[in-house]
This record gives sequence, structure tokens and C-alpha cells, in this order.
Amino acid sequence: MQALTAREILHTPLLTAWNTYTDKAYLVTYEDGEQEVTSAKSVVFNRYIWIPFETYPHTPITKDCSVQSVMNRQYFTAEVHIRMLETVFKNICAFNRLANYDQKDQLLKIIYQVFNLLYVDYINRISTHVTTIDAIDFVEVVNMPEIVAIRENLRPSPDSIEQAYKETKKALTNTTRVNNMFVHAYKSKSINENQANQCIGPRGFVADIDRSVFKQPITSGFITGMTTLFDLVAESRTAAKSLNATDKHIAISEYNSRLMQLLTMVSQNVECTDCGSTEYYDFLIPPNSIHHLKGKYYTSEGTLKCIDGSEVHLENSIIKLRTALGCNLQDAHKVCSTCLGEVSKNFRQDSNLGYTFTSFLMEKSSQSILSTKHLTHSVKGNAILLEGEASTHFYAKIDTLYLNKNVDYTNTSIILDSKQLPKLMDVLNLSHSHIALEKIGEITAVIFQKDVHNKRLANTVNVQYGDRSCILTKEFLEYIRRTNIYSDPKGNYLIPLNKFNIALPIFTMPLKENNIINFVTKLASIIETNYEKITDPYDKLTALYTHVSKQFSINLTILETLVYATTVYNAQQNDYSLGRNSVNKTTESLVNLSKSRSLSLLFSTKNQEAVIFDSNLATFQHKNIIDHPMDVFFSPHEVVEYRKKAGLSSLA
Ligand SMILES: [Zn+2]
Repeated sequence: MQALTAREILHTPLLTAWNTYTDKAYLVTYEDGEQEVTSAKSVVFNRYIWIPFETYPHTPITKDCSVQSVMNRQYFTAEVHIRMLETVFKNICAFNRLANYDQKDQLLKIIYQVFNLLYVDYINRISTHVTTIDAIDFVEVVNMPEIVAIRENLRPSPDSIEQAYKETKKALTNTTRVNNMFVHAYKSKSINENQANQCIGPRGFVADIDRSVFKQPITSGFITGMTTLFDLVAESRTAAKSLNATDKHIAISEYNSRLMQLLTMVSQNVECTDCGSTEYYDFLIPPNSIHHLKGKYYTSEGTLKCIDGSEVHLENSIIKLRTALGCNLQDAHKVCSTCLGEVSKNFRQDSNLGYTFTSFLMEKSSQSILSTKHLTHSVKGNAILLEGEASTHFYAKIDTLYLNKNVDYTNTSIILDSKQLPKLMDVLNLSHSHIALEKIGEITAVIFQKDVHNKRLANTVNVQYGDRSCILTKEFLEYIRRTNIYSDPKGNYLIPLNKFNIALPIFTMPLKENNIINFVTKLASIIETNYEKITDPYDKLTALYTHVSKQFSINLTILETLVYATTVYNAQQNDYSLGRNSVNKTTESLVNLSKSRSLSLLFSTKNQEAVIFDSNLATFQHKNIIDHPMDVFFSPHEVVEYRKKAGLSSLA
């Protein structure tokens, strides 16, 4: 076996490498003293990935930069080259102390070129080894005894479908069929696992365009074929949803994205320093989410530490984080690199923070909307957890709610909002009850009204779980039909509960498909309004983080910068400049911020008429707006005063 050093491999010209390294195995010695027995294929691939070392020749080539170390006995997947380039990048940065973006710029360019070179060279060189998947591969997989067994054991419940997917994955990963190209593609992740599941296993639970889930799952898959009328019609809704998403939904997402970009542009730049702030954000790190805090600084026993994402022991505990909200640099439009964290080294110093972060976040949501068709999967069932008043009055069995047996319902009525049940009257007039219960209406809250000693006690109970609302059960509808019901002064239905058999179900919460547009709408409302009357910036950040982290993996830095842009110095005194160094710091709504910072934001949105004809405007003041190089020519006095206040040098 030929022995090689990593440096020798690096010094071999690229084109020569393909013809030189053709032996079965090589013993490679790395510059951290480690050795590795590896194949010719790996040597050539490493040669490409190591190109950046040519420009940084003093950096040691260590074993962790080899394809074998990165793959770690797994399949070569689409992520391998990215992980390798990442390792090389990090090692070079660490060894050559490349800290800020300007220093990394050249290296980033090289990495980009390597990526292109890999693509171009490999496409050409390995074209003779490229294979295709044909229909027979699929047929073979569908007829594998393990897969047949999965199909036979399938029951029409969300759990059973999930289980079938898990078993399909296990069967395909463990199979030793080497001539089946579909199996290879599956193992190497060149095909989407989710889509493969729906081809081989069942299509699963499908949702309609309004996100309501069909009660029956489609138990056949795309390979065995959808042959019943129900299967075909139900599956057609996926295409309908997809069409809908690329039209209305993408418009909503992009509109919100632009609005938020303009709103958050007031957090302008990062300054490479430590402001020495002692204002911390007490953050409870949820389980499995330490990676959301990568690069953040926190204080522990008086010293400032940086989180690198490996501190799993900090999860479920409260730490004191430095955040953009607590930064105390003089210029409120800037944030220091310590408060912002290590992420400040990842972009140019003159990038606009608010804009960069908002577009990063919103790009993810717009992309998911565009991929509706590709991300579609079987809707998963999840247990309903009742909270607060709802847990006092109800208990849940799967998706059905029952009245609590321990509560005394004598002299008690339940009040149902007539606006939420627009079809109830019509249904009560029918002589039969063969109707789709969800068409009667969806209930989000009910009122329990109890008469005790001539006193009337009313108690509003929220009956939503996530974005799932309640519908009437057949049993409760029958009861309403048999009972004398009344109407309250607002015209709502008042139903005495004294004769209702509480062993019977009262409401159900039908399964709903999670929808990215609901996510975007709520996201926008948290950022742009005082969502749920939250005015404390840290509370708002917590609400925003909780919401976003359910959908995407996101760094907290991005969210805190967005929240910071909506803070104001002192709303009561009409000072809507950014809430830096203020004891009266609150967050404000988009409308108030625009009125008092720059009307251009309101003028650039679709509600222009409302803005133009609103007599309540604070008009065109030169207050609290972002600096512009031309300002000094139009308002020299204000610019000089502002720079004095902010402790900046006077303009030459
Ligand atoms: Zn700071």
C-alpha cells in the first residue's frame, strides 16, 4: 500500500490527481499526526476540497478534513461536501485568526469556486457511472416482503400511518439489495424521504384547501396507485392547495416581508466593540434548542462566555443573555458586536442589520410556500392539551371534549356565539340529522352561566387548541334539538345543561393541517403590532421566539434585532426614537412607528388612501428617521444638533 502525506496530495495538480491515484488503497498521514487508510476516490475528492489550503499554506491539513472522517461510515449524501468545506473553512479561520467578514472575504470566494469546480469536473468525469431509476426498481421495492407486511398491517389512523413511514424507512435503510437504484437513491438522500414514503407507503391523511383534514386516509401510495374515486378526489386537493399557495399565499408572504424589511431597517449597523452593557435578557432555554443561541454571549459567575452550540447542559435553565435590546452604544441605530454576538462576523460591516435579518427570516417562509407541493405529507395527529379554564370544564379523549364530571352543572347554561354557528337555526329546523357537523360552524369560546342564589355568574372559556376550533358533536346537537333553548340579549344561544348526559361528548376538535400562511400572518402580527397587548420588548421577543422556533430553526439574534427595531424611547412623551438607554422603553405598532418616524413606510403599502386621508397624522417631521447622507443639505441645524446629542464628531 502506497504511503502519502496530506501535503503531497495537495501538491498534486488537480488533473494529474485523477490519473495518479488509481490504487485500491492508500495510507495517508495528516499534519496532526493521524493516519488513515483510504481509497483513491477519497484521495481525489479530498484534493478538491483542500484547494483553500493552497492560499493558506501554513494551515495544517488535519484528519477531520478528510471525506472519510466527515462521512463517518455513513452513505455519501448531499450534505457531505458542504460539511467538508465547512470544516476546512473553520480550520483556516481559526489558524489564521480570520475574525471579521473583510478578513474572510477572500476565503469565502475560494470556497465558492471550489463548489463550482467540484460540480463542473465531477459531472464530466463520473458521467459514465451515472445511473437512472426505472419503474422496475419501484415495483421491486413495493413487493419486498417487509413492505407488503407494512401495507397489510395499516390501519386508518394518523399513528398507524406514521408507524408505516418509520417501518418503511427501516426496511429501505437495512435492505441489502445492491442492484436496486431506488434503494441507493433513498440511502444517499438524493431523493426526498417524505416523498419516497408516499410512493412506497400510504399517501396518508390529506387536507382540503381550507386545511380541514379528510377523515379517511388514502391508504394506497403513488406506486401502487390511487384507484378509488375518494383517493383521486382527495389527492386532487393537494394540487389545488399548491396552486392557491403560488398565488394568494405567496403574495401575502412577500407583502409582509417587504413591510417588515422597511420597518426593521432602523437597526442599521454593527460596531466591532463591547459596549459593556449590564442589561441582560433572562432566557429560559427550551429543550433541544441550544443551537438557536450559537454565537450569543451570556454572563456566568461574572464572566462573559460565548455559546458554541454544544452547551446542552444549559438547556431547561435560565441564562443571562446579552442582546441588541440591552446594548448601550450612543448611536441607537448601531449595535455592538458583543451584544449582537458572533453572527456579526458573518456579514459586511455596512450591511443593514434589520433588512438582512428580515429577508433571511422571510425567505424561509416564502420558500416553504413555493414548495407546498414538495413539502406535502400525511397530516399528523396530536393529543389535545387543555389549559386554564378549559381544563377545569372539559377533558379530552383524542379529539373529543367531554364535560368534567367533577364540576356541578346544576342551574348552569352554556352560551354559544350565534355568529360562530350561522347554520345552527337551519339545522334545528331539519327533520333529519344527516349533515356535516363542521358546516354548522366553528366555536372558539363558550360562556358558562350559572345562577346561584339570585346571582348570575358568567365564565368565558376558550375552547381552541393551537389553531384548532371546536364543532358540535352529533350527541350535543341532538340534545339541543330536544331541549328548550333560549337566546341571550345579544342573540346568542343559551342552552341549559341540567338534562345533558355528561358521559356524552359535547365538542370535537377536527384535525387541521398546519399551514405556513397562518404562520406568516401571526409572525407579522407579532412584529408589526402590540400582539396580545405586549409592550415589553423582552416579552415580545419571547413571544416571537416561541412562535418562530415551532416552524423553523432560527438564531435568536435575528429575532432580537427585529424586535429592537420596534422599540421606542418614550411613547408617552411622543419620543418615537429607538428605545436605547431608556427606562420607558416599550415596543410600538407599525402604524404608530410609521406615523412618528417616517410616513414613507405607510405610503409604500397598499393602504395609501387611508394614510392620505387620515387627519390624525403626525405629518412630515424630521424626527426619529434614519440618517441619510443628503440630510445635512436640507436640515443642517437638525443634523448638527443630532450629532451633538449622539456624541458624534461634527461634520467636517
Ligand atoms: Zn452593546
